[in-house]
Amino acid sequence: IKWTEGRGWHDAQLVPYAPLSIDPANMTLHYAQAIFEGLKAYRQPDGSVATFRPEENAKRFAASARRLAMPELPVETFIEACDVLVRQDKEWVPASGEQSLYLRPFMFATEVGLGVRPSNEYLFVVIASPAGAYFPGGVKPVSVWLSQEYVRAAPGGTGAAKCAGNYAASLVAQAQAAEHGCDQVVWLDAVERNWIEEMGGMNLYFVYGNRIVTPSLTGTLLPGITRASLLQIAADLGYEVSEGRISVDDWKDGNADGTLTEVFACGTAAVITPVGSVKSTTGNWTVGDGKPGEVTMRLRKALLDIQTGAAEDTHGWMHRLG
Ligand code: PMP
Repeated sequence: IKWTEGRGWHDAQLVPYAPLSIDPANMTLHYAQAIFEGLKAYRQPDGSVATFRPEENAKRFAASARRLAMPELPVETFIEACDVLVRQDKEWVPASGEQSLYLRPFMFATEVGLGVRPSNEYLFVVIASPAGAYFPGGVKPVSVWLSQEYVRAAPGGTGAAKCAGNYAASLVAQAQAAEHGCDQVVWLDAVERNWIEEMGGMNLYFVYGNRIVTPSLTGTLLPGITRASLLQIAADLGYEVSEGRISVDDWKDGNADGTLTEVFACGTAAVITPVGSVKSTTGNWTVGDGKPGEVTMRLRKALLDIQTGAAEDTHGWMHRLG
């Protein structure tokens, strides 16, 4: 779907997957007005297909657009575009289990010109790809590197938006994590370099027995849809769940004295991933016993059961496509 200044959204098209040609002076290449979303369509037990909370992705997409001075795509249009693609590609939604059809809606500037200002033309596109189970051989805890040198987002920046530049800025820290033998980066706040924010592509949860805490949405982390869903599911299951501040020392000390029992990350890609070990410039430690925890696995099953239709969708989160 195209957008042009003075005309708004127009020319929706369903076309075969093909390369787009880009002018060297395309404004996205220079000024990075590029935002995206990620969501999944799951096969249901009766053979139908459903996406998980697409309205939330649509709202976050609109918020990202506002932050990058891009036009807002109406929530209904975002959902309709995803629906059209999923219906067209229905046979590409895997038959069962944790497999899914991953949808990638995105928008970028298409005007040609040099000079820093918002583009007067944009293109909104949705592409799709089947995605296998994130952990084909069983859930495996990840190791994380606390990034004390680089930050992902600063107050007033674009941290709460899902824009391409945030990911470009994260790549050196991700490489640093790999150099230290870690799977993922954990980002700290930009001001004090002390408060836990989130992981490279997932939000974090800290489990203290029956009490569960996730870092508050301070404006510098992405408001994850999986994170929001787990606040609800954890409460449904009787856990005492809250949003709050967790420092590096809270993590280290809670781990040492045994009050912090589990840590997990959550996001559309992996659903829930246990965090097994931490490395940082100020010390390394194993989280709990380093194995997937009981609460982590219980919440993982509860969420996946809703997504795959094995449990009742009591919150009306599944968007059924027939
Ligand atoms: N944080 C970041 C930086 C991400 O890229 C993602 C993935 N969209 C998340 C958190 C998790 O968000 P969600 O649960 O909506 O996938």
